[in-house]
Amino acid sequence: MTPETVKSLIKDVKDFPQEGIVFKDITPILENPVAYRSVMNFFINCLEGLKVTHIVAIESRGFILGASLAVLKELPLTLVRKPGKLPRKTISYSYDLEYGSDTLEIHSDALTSEDRVVIIDDVLATGGTAHATEELCRKAGAQVEKLLFLIELNELKGASKLQAPYNSFIQF
Ligand code: AMP
Repeated sequence: MTPETVKSLIKDVKDFPQEGIVFKDITPILENPVAYRSVMNFFINCLEGLKVTHIVAIESRGFILGASLAVLKELPLTLVRKPGKLPRKTISYSYDLEYGSDTLEIHSDALTSEDRVVIIDDVLATGGTAHATEELCRKAGAQVEKLLFLIELNELKGASKLQAPYNSFIQF
């Protein structure tokens, strides 16, 4: 399935989860195995030639895509979660939002200085979440090889916040 056909499956939900946000609902892709497989094929191609040790997935829709990719690539899956969700000792990274701040966490023994990771999430919007995850992986000692996104929202210019190279399957 072409990116354009997969794109046509994504549903815009206005004012969700709050007013002013147009939420990109990817569940129709998850419900369509041919579309879902096309997304995975794209991600697999993006990893060609890279020496990757871990897939690092961002809560929560990043978990779905990351888990699928990790199994297909037979790579370990590492979770980056909101505070208080990971059960063992964590490293955390806090970052500023338009109003207030947010924190992400990773298990402190999840990565080592030998590791070269690929970060995955569903949407690249302002880039704050992805940038924070890059910082978290570096804090944990690992090198970020690449970031992967299903959707990139071009006008929010999130790409400018990223340090490692990235690929997005669909752009709006
Ligand atoms: P940001 O930090 O602004 O790049 O936001 C990225 C994170 O927020 C991702 O984990 C997305 O799941 C979520 N997100 C941001 N904007 C949207 C949107 N319009 N539709 C769906 N998810 C979004």
